[in-house]
Amino acid sequence: MGNALIVAEYKGDALKKVTRAAFTFAKEYTTKQGGEFHILVLGHNLGAVVDECMSYGAAKVHVADNESLANYLAESYAQVVAQVAKDSGAEVVGATASAMTKDLMPRVAAKLDAGMASDIIGISDEGYFDRPVWAGNAIVSAEITSPVKVVTVRGTDFEPAPKGDAGGEKVEVTVSVDLGSLKKRFEQFEEVKSDRPELTEASIIVTGGRGTKGDEGFKLVEGLADLLGAAVGATRAAVDAGWVPNDLQVGQTGKVVAPDLYVAAGVSGAIQHLAGMKGSKTIVAINKDEEAPIFQVADYGLVADLFKALPEMVEEVKKAKG
Ligand SMILES: Cc1cc2nc3c(=O)[nH]c(=O)nc-3n(C[C@H](O)[C@H](O)[C@H](O)COP(=O)(O)OP(=O)(O)OC[C@H]3O[C@@H](n4cnc5c(N)ncnc54)[C@H](O)[C@@H]3O)c2cc1C
Repeated sequence: MGNALIVAEYKGDALKKVTRAAFTFAKEYTTKQGGEFHILVLGHNLGAVVDECMSYGAAKVHVADNESLANYLAESYAQVVAQVAKDSGAEVVGATASAMTKDLMPRVAAKLDAGMASDIIGISDEGYFDRPVWAGNAIVSAEITSPVKVVTVRGTDFEPAPKGDAGGEKVEVTVSVDLGSLKKRFEQFEEVKSDRPELTEASIIVTGGRGTKGDEGFKLVEGLADLLGAAVGATRAAVDAGWVPNDLQVGQTGKVVAPDLYVAAGVSGAIQHLAGMKGSKTIVAINKDEEAPIFQVADYGLVADLFKALPEMVEEVKKAKG
């Protein structure tokens, strides 16, 4: 019986919430299929994040802490993940579905001669992996027949694992990556700095669509978001119009989110947008067209002009906050 190895993603010293969802997947997988739950954390000068990894009930936490891993490169990271997967007897190698792992995990699969399922949302008792297709309109139950299986896990479909008692074994990984031999080299990382939470980590998101008509409407979206401590999202129409950067896009070709509260202003609710947010716990839609499809998934729908409704909401939230 093989083990389930999860590659941890973190920011600064803290694990990402979506990684904790992948831990839940691994626990569920090993409960159903047997084997142990392991974590792999890679990088350089790893401190608190290793301690945090020790507190989710993994049998082993593999730590690859090396100067050559200071900056993410798919080629170097894939070498180490594949090496640890082999050494740790992994049957499943997983990570949360993210921009980084879209780049990394197919390489890992190729190195391990493994079949891969991306964006999985569940596991059957037989060990099949459920994944959405056609913008979430159908669910495929995929059997991976190779001995080693590589998966990415949708952070929205598994609860983040809670912290438990520290335990398990810490295993130091010997890393021998020759950066000079790689076809790519790291130049620089230009981080988009924002005081707002990241879309995939936020518990509240306020999204603007084409109905915001650009800067003026997006200022209203941002104003409400800041008051609620929320992340700002956008539809592809708003991104394509150049009003906001594309890392804010929610949907089939953007980010998949499932916050506690999702406020959509001036968003029609195209199927490709819904594919990225319909799992949100409470959806509030503001649209001046009462026929807009967004109202079919909304828990609260306001048929109104957002240029009037958003300032009113801001005033009411301010009053409620005192
Ligand atoms: C392969 C593919 C992938 C795609 N991926 C994505 C994706 O990841 N994410 C995504 O979002 N889209 C995606 N799209 C695009 C998608 O099909 C829609 O075109 C897009 O979501 C529409 O964005 P929107 O709702 O902002 O604009 P529109 O559909 O134009 O809707 C604007 C809405 O604003 C309302 N409105 C206008 N003025 C006001 C006002 N003053 N007050 C209130 N309401 C107002 C209108 O009634 C309308 O319902 C994809 C499309 C394809 C083909």
